[in-house]
Amino acid sequence: MYNFEEYFEAATVAEALDLLVDHPDLTVIAGGTDVLIKMHHGQLAKASLLSIRGIQSLQGIQQLEDGTILIGPLTTFTQVINDPVIQGQIPVLAEAAASMGGPQIRNVATIGGNICNGATSADSAPTLLALNARLKLQSRQGERVVPIQEFYLGPGKVDLKPGELLTAITIVPADYQGYGGRYIKFSMRKAMDIATLGVAVLCRLREGNILADVRIGLGVAGPTPRRCPEAEAYARGKAVTPETMKTIGRLAVKSTRARTSWRASKEYREHLVAELTRRALRAAISRAGGEGIA
Ligand SMILES: Cc1cc2nc3c(=O)[nH]c(=O)nc-3n(C[C@H](O)[C@H](O)[C@H](O)COP(=O)(O)OP(=O)(O)OC[C@H]3O[C@@H](n4cnc5c(N)ncnc54)[C@H](O)[C@@H]3O)c2cc1C
Repeated sequence: MYNFEEYFEAATVAEALDLLVDHPDLTVIAGGTDVLIKMHHGQLAKASLLSIRGIQSLQGIQQLEDGTILIGPLTTFTQVINDPVIQGQIPVLAEAAASMGGPQIRNVATIGGNICNGATSADSAPTLLALNARLKLQSRQGERVVPIQEFYLGPGKVDLKPGELLTAITIVPADYQGYGGRYIKFSMRKAMDIATLGVAVLCRLREGNILADVRIGLGVAGPTPRRCPEAEAYARGKAVTPETMKTIGRLAVKSTRARTSWRASKEYREHLVAELTRRALRAAISRAGGEGIA
């Protein structure tokens, strides 16, 4: 049983934004896989809901003329996995999407909901962070674009102002072209489990074995998903060697604020950050065309 007060459905963004002005207490619902669980557990008792699921313009993925990839926030995880643009241009995002939940959840859960819930364990977040994704937020007052790194404010807290909707996720060509990537999710079970740690690494090479750029996104290594600036700065310009990769993994730990939970101790999470960053980097280098790296 779901205990809600009122239920509205919007067919267009304009309609949704008007409803959010007229009814400021509305809770937006997309796939509902977070919202309905919260209602079920009494955290959102007597909420009034605004369903945006029927807004066609917020669905699907396209590559714009300048190469920018535009992901509609209502795109489901299954659609992300199967989309030819994602498979061809940023397969690491399909890899991350495939690690999420199980088939039924992936058919319903949206990528926008995964970002807006602000969870540090959100499986799309480390990869979108490493891709420097930008978020378009619209309200009746207008629109703004926020880098995803600045969107996360605290556990479950994002920079979404009253009356705002996430209406697009964009990734510009300079942030994905020429990069290889790998997402590794470490969890207790192989499916239907929340990450104990999530690591996404993107990497671009020059001259075959020099790290031109490395970007590392981590989930569950702190209260919010995060990048690893120290490890990334160290990596730039270094030759690929087992020692370099190990050092980058160790430096990634410096950007974490891991804590002990029933899933894993702080020390174990830090160990995972160092080791999985190294492994993800190794695979990303190989996918970026690195020679002699299995
Ligand atoms: C059984 C189960 C397993 C799961 N496994 C995983 C997993 O392995 N990995 C993982 O990351 N997550 C997992 N989840 C969590 C959940 O499925 C995801 O976070 C999902 O992506 C949420 O998307 P949704 O469309 O269902 O969001 P909703 O529940 O509809 O919304 C989530 C939040 O985002 C807000 N919101 C949604 N869309 C917008 C928008 N466009 N603009 C503004 N606000 C918006 C809502 O108001 C709400 O606060 C699981 C959930 C369940 C029930």
